[in-house]
Amino acid sequence: MAQVLAPVAAQTALPSLGDGAEMSISAERRLGDRIARELYRDPDYIDDAILGEYVQGIWLRLMAAARQRGELPPELDQRFAWDVVLGRERSVNAFALPGGYMGVHLGLIAAVSSEDELASVLAHELSHVTQRHIVRIISRQSNQAPWLLGAMILGALAAASNPGAAGAMIVGGQAAAVQGQLNFSRDMEREADRVGYGVMTQAGFDARGFVGMFEKLQQANRFNDTGAFPYLRSHPLTTERIADMQSRQQLQGQAAPPQLTMAHAMLAARARMLANPEVDSLRAALLSAQGATAAAMSPAQQAGVYYAAVLGAMGLREFEQAQRWLERLQALVRGDARAAYQTRMLGAELALAMANPRRASELLAAGTPEAGQTVTRPLLFLRARAWTQTGQAREAAEQLQVWLASRPRDAQAWQLLSAAYAAQGQTLRAVRAEAEVHAARLDYAAARDRLRAAQELARQGPNVDHIEASIIDTRSREIESLLREQALER
Ligand SMILES: [Zn+2]
Repeated sequence: MAQVLAPVAAQTALPSLGDGAEMSISAERRLGDRIARELYRDPDYIDDAILGEYVQGIWLRLMAAARQRGELPPELDQRFAWDVVLGRERSVNAFALPGGYMGVHLGLIAAVSSEDELASVLAHELSHVTQRHIVRIISRQSNQAPWLLGAMILGALAAASNPGAAGAMIVGGQAAAVQGQLNFSRDMEREADRVGYGVMTQAGFDARGFVGMFEKLQQANRFNDTGAFPYLRSHPLTTERIADMQSRQQLQGQAAPPQLTMAHAMLAARARMLANPEVDSLRAALLSAQGATAAAMSPAQQAGVYYAAVLGAMGLREFEQAQRWLERLQALVRGDARAAYQTRMLGAELALAMANPRRASELLAAGTPEAGQTVTRPLLFLRARAWTQTGQAREAAEQLQVWLASRPRDAQAWQLLSAAYAAQGQTLRAVRAEAEVHAARLDYAAARDRLRAAQELARQGPNVDHIEASIIDTRSREIESLLREQALER
């Protein structure tokens, strides 16, 4: 992520963040929004509903635990974005950003052996946010203009992702000089370990996940593998951190680490495949499934290998093979509700790739949650795509509207809603939903352009939808005012 840095215009009058005082919560959120806006534009940004649901699920459990422990001040809780942003990178990294944004590389999800290990990293990063570490290191730069601070953080991220190209990313010599000062101190790291450990265990995750992750990092450290583990560069394993970890380990005794579950193995395989979509990697996934002997693997390992094979064959458009591996997977996951759910989502994905939306609908209907249960994001999105293609675009639009009523910042839901409107010939609504896609990703200039196009359509159209036209006018005014605020903030 952050390999692409949009040009940042220099400004003359620089409003300072306050005279050495700590940055306010709303200023930190605005800085976070500014950074997130660039990340959403990055070609490596990926909004995968299935992996997103996995990471967000862990994140929400950790937040609830932090709240219970009094680690999450209500003002932060309400004002911050609390959004996890996934990046397609293969490297192992996660980073907390200002304003409650959190970046996670797919390489981290692929590298961990359990949900608990993933939770340990997220809990550590969450603690950097709740302990206000981020604002403390940023406030040291309080003489910098917000736009420069944002550029510095993006530059530091780009340098961590891609050390070779770092020189090209940094905006000006000033940013280069202060970039080194954006790292957390050793004390902050130890505090994030301590608070994070408490939060993750309170959330019900296995504490051995914390130790397991630490061991993985130590191993990578031994091989000096910071290229694949940029996380190590921002989180050096100091002797104090290792000692703290060893004393926690002794508390836990010698118990075996949490077992690899089928669901985790499948999602780790998905992360690996989405981070490496090249033909060679698709072929390799198929070959390793073909060469694998079931007897030599645990059921969880088999589930991971078959899942990767389905995605590999799907990417190569070898649908018969994909179907065969899906059937193996379906037989394997019977009796494991979480793995069966992931298999159903994968089956629907495959059916859509095979241009068989009817089959996708059937698969998804079989797994419709019980009455009273909320629909999951992957299920809703796959169903919306299937329904939009099978003459049920109106039903798809209705469900998406219900979803968006409480999650207006879900860009992908707006995208699907736009497609559902277009399929019904409701062009004006489709264009407005496109504007909302951009607004949700904080790109207000692009949103304004789409709204202007919608206003033009409304002026020319013979059968104007007056309610929609008035919504468009209201949204235009709101977006214009957000753009003006943005211009002032620089
Ligand atoms: Zn840290």
